[in-house]
Amino acid sequence: MPQGGRRPPFLLIISGPSGGGKGTIISSVVQNIAGFTKVVNYTTRDRRPGEAEGIDYHFVDEDEFMRKFDCGEIFEYERVYDDYYYGSPSDVFEGLTQDRIIELDYKGHTKYRKRYPDQVVSIFLLPPSLEELRRRIIRRSPEENLSARLENAREQLRHAKEYDYMILNDDLANCREQVFTTIEAERIRRRGWTLLRDLGVD
Ligand code: ADP
Repeated sequence: MPQGGRRPPFLLIISGPSGGGKGTIISSVVQNIAGFTKVVNYTTRDRRPGEAEGIDYHFVDEDEFMRKFDCGEIFEYERVYDDYYYGSPSDVFEGLTQDRIIELDYKGHTKYRKRYPDQVVSIFLLPPSLEELRRRIIRRSPEENLSARLENAREQLRHAKEYDYMILNDDLANCREQVFTTIEAERIRRRGWTLLRDLGVD
């Protein structure tokens, strides 16, 4: 049974190669687990069919992206695939009262982990194979830069061991269940910190 009660919230970082199922898993967490909100990142890439401004990403042009980075609204960013920028907002931990979930690459993961070691929990989604990854990328959007994405996938995978958890995304329902179980376990872990503090032991 889920353990309720007070506890510090955490930021769940989801990483993995492009096409690895990050967006799919994040939507599923937000829809199915009470108290989770998604951090909406910034990107300069084009909107895909079905994506919405402010829900999937904040879609901005390069000038606006750089303005937001210069004034501190964007915490960290990466330039990937054909020169697109992806960046995360700086205010993630301001008034963090609920658990939040964010998609980041391994460099973003390292930066957040260094800055907020106690608040970060991270999951790397592993593909069953690079061949299956290829099929998923093509199915999602055939016009995407496939070779750059597959090259980047290898680079991402080399950092998978830096994460708290590596979860295989082969069967989607199975993967989802393992992510949900991880979330429940991390909630219980943090509840323990509060219980101990209530006992006057810090
Ligand atoms: P990412 O956000 O990591 O780039 P997506 O969530 O967009 O990946 O998933 C890429 C594509 O693969 C989507 O079309 C999605 O529906 C599909 N997909 C994700 N997980 C699975 C899975 N376990 N089995 C089959 N297809 C999947």
